[in-house]
Amino acid sequence: MTLYDRHRAVAPDWTALYYKDPIEITHGEGRRVWDADGKRYLDFFGGILTTMTAHALPEVTRAVSEQAARIVHSSTLYLNRPMVELAERVAALSGIPDARVFFTSSGTEANDTALLLATAYRRSSQVLAMRNSYHGRSFSAVGVTGNRAWSPTGLSPLQTLYVHGGVRTRGPFARLRDAEFIAACVEDLEDLLGHTHDVAALIAEPVQGVGGFTSPPDGLFAAFREVLDRHGALWISDEVQTGWGRTGDHFWGWQAHAASGPPDLLTFAKGIGNGMSIGGVVARAEIMNSLDANSISTFGGSPVTMAAGLANLTHLLEHDLQGNARRVGGLLIERLRALGAGVPAVREIRGRGLMIGVELVRPGTDDACPEAAAAVLEAAREGGLLIGKGGGHRTSVLRVAPPLSLTVAEAEEGAAILGEALSHA
Ligand code: PMP
Repeated sequence: MTLYDRHRAVAPDWTALYYKDPIEITHGEGRRVWDADGKRYLDFFGGILTTMTAHALPEVTRAVSEQAARIVHSSTLYLNRPMVELAERVAALSGIPDARVFFTSSGTEANDTALLLATAYRRSSQVLAMRNSYHGRSFSAVGVTGNRAWSPTGLSPLQTLYVHGGVRTRGPFARLRDAEFIAACVEDLEDLLGHTHDVAALIAEPVQGVGGFTSPPDGLFAAFREVLDRHGALWISDEVQTGWGRTGDHFWGWQAHAASGPPDLLTFAKGIGNGMSIGGVVARAEIMNSLDANSISTFGGSPVTMAAGLANLTHLLEHDLQGNARRVGGLLIERLRALGAGVPAVREIRGRGLMIGVELVRPGTDDACPEAAAAVLEAAREGGLLIGKGGGHRTSVLRVAPPLSLTVAEAEEGAAILGEALSHA
């Protein structure tokens, strides 16, 4: 039996693997990984935007092994120095005044916590989310996920209404200019709030990740914020994919809507641990402290993950990887646009920083083409490049999101492989 056969026999059918012949990645270095057959790839997906700085970053490896040699676990019952240090740094970076930080072990759990806080604070289980959103896999996170492909149940502990705005170039407002698009979405939100009992919060990704790297025009969430404020509803920014400078222009995705000031709650995960399981939520003390019972996460904030997070964050800031994402991401999207211009199946190439989506359609139509996306993914792999895919209910957007330390030479190399894959598929 191959490893794939054994996987199929023992793992749930709903955990999909990439590629006709799924690969086992055995090691990595920088922006490169190797599979079990020894084939080398340029990694432009970073294990779903999670290898944020680089594979085998020496500082992170050292921090993990040194902390593991001292103590792996003590629990939340005792003081934990690396946790306090990382919380202080995240609080200061968040932009949220009087910030408190709670660590979890995943993005799902971070959003779950944010929803728990917002609904408890507002004494309402009515929430708003964006169409085409993804917020995680738990019962509550699925209840705010507006993407049928990732929503295995319609049952929910929350009442959720979905608003427009996350998808710029599809849907009823797609043809409007930016300012009109924002105005239409705000009108939709106002209308909805007028028909709804007290809304606890709106949860939104500044750039939708799983949804195919789509985003509203800058400023939409600032305009939303003004309406939400009037109704006392909180704003939760899900920065699980957009945080830590990935979008190049900003450290957090919400800053593209900066006129609003920071969100009430911010959730993060993925990149901060560079693969170690760190998630978390930041909120003003007044909101964070609104729970009137005990709550802990046994593994949230565990010393080894926190040591990794600290080393990773220090490296990111000291090497200005946000600036690198802006510069190298700008070059990469330019190259991809030039290569994609001659390919009839390419509908749109969008994104910012190192978060780039290539949307594919059946040539001559506006219909999503998941077959083309699968074929390009496969061809890129053959060429030695790993990318991801996503998008709406029919997965037809290629997702390009390398580690933020990507070099210009690697960007050129990856773009050439992807261009080749696009033209063949
Ligand atoms: N929010 C967003 C925006 C995500 O992209 C994801 C993961 N794809 C999650 C939440 C859930 O994170 P996790 O898989 O760590 O639970």
